[in-house]
Amino acid sequence: MDLSSIKDMESKYVMHTYHREDILLSKGQGCLLYDDKGNAYIDMTSGIGVNCLGHNHPELVAAIQDQVQTLMHCSNVFYSEPMVLVAKELVEATGMSKMFFANTGAEANEGLIKLARKYSQDHYGKGRHKILSLVQSFHGRTMMTLTATGQDKFHHDFDPFPEGFDYVKANDLSSFLDKLDDSVCCVMMEMIQGEGGVLPLGREFVQSIAKICQERDILVAVDEVQTGIGRTGSLFCYQQYGIHPNIVTMAKGLGGGVVIGGFLVDQKCADVLTPGTHGSTFGGNPLSARAAQTVLSIVNQPEFLKDVQEKGDYLMEHLKQIVSSEIREVRGMGLMVGVIVDPEKRTQYVHALREHGVLVLTAGKDAIRLLPPLIITKEQIDTVIKAFQEVFK
Ligand SMILES: *Cc1c(COP(=O)(O)O)cnc(C)c1O
Repeated sequence: MDLSSIKDMESKYVMHTYHREDILLSKGQGCLLYDDKGNAYIDMTSGIGVNCLGHNHPELVAAIQDQVQTLMHCSNVFYSEPMVLVAKELVEATGMSKMFFANTGAEANEGLIKLARKYSQDHYGKGRHKILSLVQSFHGRTMMTLTATGQDKFHHDFDPFPEGFDYVKANDLSSFLDKLDDSVCCVMMEMIQGEGGVLPLGREFVQSIAKICQERDILVAVDEVQTGIGRTGSLFCYQQYGIHPNIVTMAKGLGGGVVIGGFLVDQKCADVLTPGTHGSTFGGNPLSARAAQTVLSIVNQPEFLKDVQEKGDYLMEHLKQIVSSEIREVRGMGLMVGVIVDPEKRTQYVHALREHGVLVLTAGKDAIRLLPPLIITKEQIDTVIKAFQEVFK
């Protein structure tokens, strides 16, 4: 089918919850995406940070194929091997204590909120249930995670929203101290606000929060759904902030394109959730866990992570060198980069970049967001830089 007939069918049969780009993708190979006419694009989106090994990665494909014909799914009432191997790898890489498997980012964060509330209720009784999150954060689309999302534009249409949430200004410790009362059980934050506009948190802000929370037995939860799995040059971004969170959520990149998410917890939180208090039909099933096992075997290597760091630095450095009054700022960490432009002209730039063979994302009100596959080459990065030079000259 061609683009126009697919568009017709989409508008007839699919709910209109997305503004889609006018492009029909037909296949992917490595860091390239191809449209139906055979045009190639460098993929600086990786499905919003999902395809961390690019497209059609031979090892990932082989592992998935093998798992599909061995055991694709079985219920969590039985044991299976891939899941425990993924949990072991994640626990050993972080020094956390245990892993819970879910499917999506929202679901991982939903579990985090349940765990934080139960931890508090187990230790302090009812009433100490407030979750503090950051203004401009994004934590998902379920009712709980939407409420945790610190953006007013999401807090309409679905009333009543669950209670017990409040919002702290990012990088503003006094705002945090203002909101800190005896009802707070948990603080959740992204180290770099992704959807919010690629906004990294300051190291001092994060460390101060971690310290105060530890003193008061308030749980620190880090949402690494976008920043995790090597994206910023370490397995998890918080590892570069020198903190020890109690809960770390993840999803997007974990399965390299297969749906899997979940969260790690430290010793303190290891036994909060018990049989009957939480679960998931699909969470950590053999297919998705085998994909995650393969992704981690490649990404969680010191040389691989160092390479992500170097390529990210290289990309940002060269974008910063583009002399253009149209680029206001370049910021990010590793291969999570925001190029800040005039919001009025952003769509035009996105289309121009596509004309130059580069697909990009947006975030917040003024960021062009770059989340390439972590395996992108220096040569491909050079091509991307050249496209930016052309578009912004
Ligand atoms: C994408 C994202 C989510 C939501 O993940 P889904 O898989 O879409 O539910 C949550 N938190 C952060 C930081 C994200 O970037």
